[in-house]
Amino acid sequence: MKLRVVVLGAGFGGLELSTILSEKLGDRLDLTLIDKNDSFFFGFSKFDVMFGHKSSEAVRLYYNRIVKPGVKFIRDTITSIDPVGKIVTTQNGTYEADVLVIALGADYDIAATPGLGEGGNEFYSFAGAERLREVLPAFSKGKVIVGVCSAPFKCPPAPSEAALLMHDYLTKRGIRNECEISIVMPFGLPIPPSPDTSKALLKAFEERNISFIAKHVVKSIDLSRHVAILDDGMEMPFDLFLGIPKHRVPEVVEKSGMTEKGWIPVDKTNLKTHFPNVYAIGDVNSVGTPKAGVFAEGAAKVAAASIIAEFESGEQPSPYKGNGTCYVEFGDGRVGKVDVDFFSGPAPIGYYTEASSDLVADKKYFGSSREARWF
Ligand SMILES: Cc1cc2nc3c(=O)[nH]c(=O)nc-3n(C[C@H](O)[C@H](O)[C@H](O)COP(=O)(O)OP(=O)(O)OC[C@H]3O[C@@H](n4cnc5c(N)ncnc54)[C@H](O)[C@@H]3O)c2cc1C
Repeated sequence: MKLRVVVLGAGFGGLELSTILSEKLGDRLDLTLIDKNDSFFFGFSKFDVMFGHKSSEAVRLYYNRIVKPGVKFIRDTITSIDPVGKIVTTQNGTYEADVLVIALGADYDIAATPGLGEGGNEFYSFAGAERLREVLPAFSKGKVIVGVCSAPFKCPPAPSEAALLMHDYLTKRGIRNECEISIVMPFGLPIPPSPDTSKALLKAFEERNISFIAKHVVKSIDLSRHVAILDDGMEMPFDLFLGIPKHRVPEVVEKSGMTEKGWIPVDKTNLKTHFPNVYAIGDVNSVGTPKAGVFAEGAAKVAAASIIAEFESGEQPSPYKGNGTCYVEFGDGRVGKVDVDFFSGPAPIGYYTEASSDLVADKKYFGSSREARWF
């Protein structure tokens, strides 16, 4: 008997889960992996695109390269999810599953921040990063704001990385002295679970004359006056606004009735939802880890082990630890590293490895090893 699994979303979580199930179950698996896009790209590759280091084509990994026992990739847009019947409808078909895995990530609600869609820029979507690639060369002086519009948001280090990379970009163009850079962040520190990483980032900001505005979000943008308005009413003038938009579940997830307080609740130990044989992994759930690829991947490992245990009537895996390694761009050809663990102890904890040029190779390997495994 084959296990029929339908995986919704071929991002970090969906690709890792499909790879594990294929490796472990092989011919006993009948897995359909569905995504609306034709290719995957790492979140961090948006920086390469936006700052013009790489072309869009160079960072895309095409799904038609996936050849794995028991796995079939379907390019289609999911239009409805029935978590009770475990039936998924797409624009072109219907899929029934024994086990359903929701790995649809987070979408952006640009309209939630008035002015952002009309005249701000965002670098969180691929299209937004591509647009900025055209916008940045025309910017030559003035105030740059990297502004978080709401929490939670993907990859908590990303706004800090954007500011540091912007510093490099402007320096290389010889116009840094004509520009000011500020970051608006909802947290008190850049990386709250790791005081050491935060300290290193704050030092890097100070050395580069980057202002860190803590414990605030950008509520709206007044385009006529070119000001960003913060949650306490404070106004910050800007010439270039780089926004991190409000995040939300994809509309199809919202319509499925699986969400509570905006995200899909799951059992923290094994990523099961309230619905039998339905799992939710990655950014789409509210498990309590940050929204980042490494955590989606870790969740995929535990969910895959749980699915296999149920199929083979084996033992459930040890509980999800909510741990992972995040690489942090410091600019100037240096990358730092933070190993974070959210669930093992009484409070989240992160260990910092100082930024160095050596870690650039580690980060590269992080990407290339996943490419080799998933594609
Ligand atoms: C600028 C930036 C830098 C980042 N840097 C890092 C980093 O260094 N390290 C890190 O770990 N994380 C990083 N991230 C975060 C990371 O990219 C995400 O957290 C991660 O991709 C989440 O994985 P996921 O599997 O939950 O969802 P995703 O990878 O977003 O995958 C979801 C998939 O679902 C598909 N989908 C959605 N709706 C539908 C639909 N209706 N029908 C069909 N398909 C659909 C999408 O096309 C997508 O492929 C970064 C993010 C950004 C924006």
